[in-house]
Amino acid sequence: MAQVKLHDISKSYGSVEVIKGVDIDIDDGEFVVFVGPSGCGKSTLLRMIAGLEDITGGTLEIDGVRVNDLEPSKRGIAMVFQSYAIFPHMTVRENVAFGLTINKASKAEKERKVAEAARILQMEHLLDRRPSELSGGQRQRVAIGRAIVRDPKVFLFDEPLSNLDAALRMDMRMEIGKLHNDLAASMIYVTHDQVEAMTLADKIVVLKDGMVMQAGAPMELYHEPANLFVAGFLGAPSMNFLDVTVEAVNETTVTVKNASLDLIEVPSKGRAFTQGQTATLGVRPQYLHPADEATGKLHGKVALTERLGSETVIDIKLADGNKIIAALSEDAILTEGTSASFQFDPNQAHIFPEVR
Ligand code: ADP
Ligand code: MG
Repeated sequence: MAQVKLHDISKSYGSVEVIKGVDIDIDDGEFVVFVGPSGCGKSTLLRMIAGLEDITGGTLEIDGVRVNDLEPSKRGIAMVFQSYAIFPHMTVRENVAFGLTINKASKAEKERKVAEAARILQMEHLLDRRPSELSGGQRQRVAIGRAIVRDPKVFLFDEPLSNLDAALRMDMRMEIGKLHNDLAASMIYVTHDQVEAMTLADKIVVLKDGMVMQAGAPMELYHEPANLFVAGFLGAPSMNFLDVTVEAVNETTVTVKNASLDLIEVPSKGRAFTQGQTATLGVRPQYLHPADEATGKLHGKVALTERLGSETVIDIKLADGNKIIAALSEDAILTEGTSASFQFDPNQAHIFPEVR
């Protein structure tokens, strides 16, 4: 276990700055997920922590010691890559033991550690196979086994499930969650998949363009997104956004409306607004409920009804031309082409001064 601290970390390739002053604290035994769209700098950050990439500016600390210039093998870190990076000509046993062989560990130590990793990952029966005789999920398990035997202070994972099909991805996701519970090690996990972030993380760090947009517990970010980007990134289906006009600015709320939305009062959460400005209202699809025209706040026409089994997703075309989505219970019936109104609790809505 270890604490990892990134303080004002930056990275430039030539004159292009790709990481722009990042602060992140990772506690002993914490599972931290870096999530963000492709190209936002997740891998670069992880590779800097591992020592595979020079740090241009700022301080990286592991257990209170500055390690900016410490070589990778001395950092007590093991990294698992998306591409597995296992050797085809070696058996599973030899692949898992690889780091120990390099470090000239004794035969007994190798046997003990490989057996332990195989037990944790439930792959005792695979030890004598070669990678070509394994499924994708089993290969990724070998790569994780190789990290486990090194007994690292910190595990780093870079999109380890991206090459697996959907069903296997879910199984492996649960296994990695279990692994974290079993090992109680600090883990940093990079993904572009918000579902992996929500399900695995103690703490999520949302990144965009080399900057931290918000960091916190998954449900904290889900319920209290700090900005439009985080609001739209976490949750499926995504939060609906409406362009609205600020009619009045009150002490702790703002009153907003638009052509399809009746006047509502939404908590402003300390954000600054001016009367008359355009702002963005966010409402999650799950929080919209069918209502009659008099009690509903939001009015439109049903464009499409999709039954997913566990829920019914309705596409609604608003009078102002925008489209929104309502996620309703499994047996909700709304006829395509008919008018529909929806009710929601303004306290579950978000208002952002930014315009999309
Ligand atoms: P992510 O892992 O979030 O998809 P990366 O960390 O791989 O993103 O990349 C972040 C940014 O840095 C991207 O714009 C990418 O093009 C750039 N980048 C990554 N590696 C290099 C490199 N060796 N030289 C120049 N630019 C790079
Ligand atoms: Mg990457």
